[in-house]
Amino acid sequence: MNHTAPFPLPEPLNTAALTQLKKSRYNIITGFKSTHTIVHNLLRETGFLVPQDKAALIDAILDDPAAHAHEPLLEPLLRAGCLIPSDTDESALITQKKIDFETRQEDTLTLTIIPTYQCNLKCVYCWEDTKDSNDAMPAEAQERLLQYIEAQLPSFSALNIEWFGGEPMMAYPVMQNLSRRIDEICKSQKTPYFCSLTTNGTMLTVERFEFLLKYHTRFFQVTLDGPQALHDRNRPLKSGRRAESLARENPEALGKELLQFAKRGTYDRILQNLRDICDQVRGRFEFIVRLNVTKETQPYLDEFLDFYRSEFGDDWRFQLYIQGVEEHDGKRADEMSEKYLDKTEDVVDSMFDAAIDRDIRLNSLRVDGPGDLMCKSRQKNTYFVNSDGRFYKCDMCMNDKHVTFLGDLTQEGALVENASNLQDWNTIEPPGYCKDCVLQPLCFGLKCPYYNTIEGKTRCELFNSHSAARNAVKTFAQEGKYEIYS
Ligand code: SF4
Ligand code: SF4
Repeated sequence: MNHTAPFPLPEPLNTAALTQLKKSRYNIITGFKSTHTIVHNLLRETGFLVPQDKAALIDAILDDPAAHAHEPLLEPLLRAGCLIPSDTDESALITQKKIDFETRQEDTLTLTIIPTYQCNLKCVYCWEDTKDSNDAMPAEAQERLLQYIEAQLPSFSALNIEWFGGEPMMAYPVMQNLSRRIDEICKSQKTPYFCSLTTNGTMLTVERFEFLLKYHTRFFQVTLDGPQALHDRNRPLKSGRRAESLARENPEALGKELLQFAKRGTYDRILQNLRDICDQVRGRFEFIVRLNVTKETQPYLDEFLDFYRSEFGDDWRFQLYIQGVEEHDGKRADEMSEKYLDKTEDVVDSMFDAAIDRDIRLNSLRVDGPGDLMCKSRQKNTYFVNSDGRFYKCDMCMNDKHVTFLGDLTQEGALVENASNLQDWNTIEPPGYCKDCVLQPLCFGLKCPYYNTIEGKTRCELFNSHSAARNAVKTFAQEGKYEIYS
């Protein structure tokens, strides 16, 4: 990490100049592998490593730089923006970063396409209202969408497609058709095109994976929920879950046969798909394996990490993302209420360290740099497209009466835009408490405008989460992004 310093270093570094410094509000200092300490500044986007025994000295310099005028570690601290002139307005710097970020994003058209709301699973913690009937995007809606993309593309320098659902692979023929046709459009307009896919992994065979890779999908994400028995109970096939509840209601009539069917899990199928991809697919991609952690998974975490290490640890295309299950108000909130972790941050922190000790490559979703934690819904030229081909700003409320509704495509693929909703959405301001949150340089207070502002939840669940920041910088250290000072 080697950025140009945004703050002038005090010249000369004499005691008087050093008394005019203050600590940045966005310093993250954390241990790494029991041997080193990471020193990072989220606003400056840079940092460095020191041997672990220098951690106390770093704190002392930050508390009183003038008393450490001849200390060699003073300079990297200044360069990382951990010590800044006392009149620096960090809020103004965040605002400038937001403007720069939004300007950069304007060049890209980002469409999150939901080819279907159907899902073949019924996960206990899922808050989505998935459909049981086939609602795959009809051919005429696909045509309108393609015409829209073709007409819009000359105004952009890149196209980003994110496949989302329901379970998008339930509508794989839609994905195939759109992928091929979008590729043709992008090739003819010489516009770079890249995709990502969030899937439950049950239908992600090597053949399909290779097709998606060929059509520019580079980022994949699936979830494994720890040991097989728990995963299979938490993430059953929809058909199995229905059968299980019927069997519970009327065990004598439905009997053992149905219960056996109910126990058909998804773990083996997902794992086999991942193994096949790992073993058989050459080429570059990033595959995030997400582990949802609850009180139930907690006792098996070491076992899971050992297992993951033996399966995927040598393939750095695979990255483990560890996440405490977040509380949601969805349909199955009651079933989950006893299962949320008591001290989520402590559990996730210790898992991160245990994974790093095993040399497992970790991922800290979307917290690599400024803006990465800001919801894409708040960015310009970024839309969700539902399986009817309608445009929304957020997938949490795809209701045409809601401020998230943006418009319909005409037969010719022109967007009949709801300008008033778009204006309302684009002018959503962060909640006031964000100014006290260490993550503000990463999300600009806009991590989730829907829940944090429109719905007005009590407080963003990531409020001042040093854990999220610490774990992000640990992944930078894993990737060798820091210089080491001694
Ligand atoms: S606003 Fe919130 S709920 Fe809507 S897409 Fe963004 S993160 Fe998701
Ligand atoms: S409270 Fe949430 S939205 Fe606000 S700055 Fe922190 S992470 Fe971002």
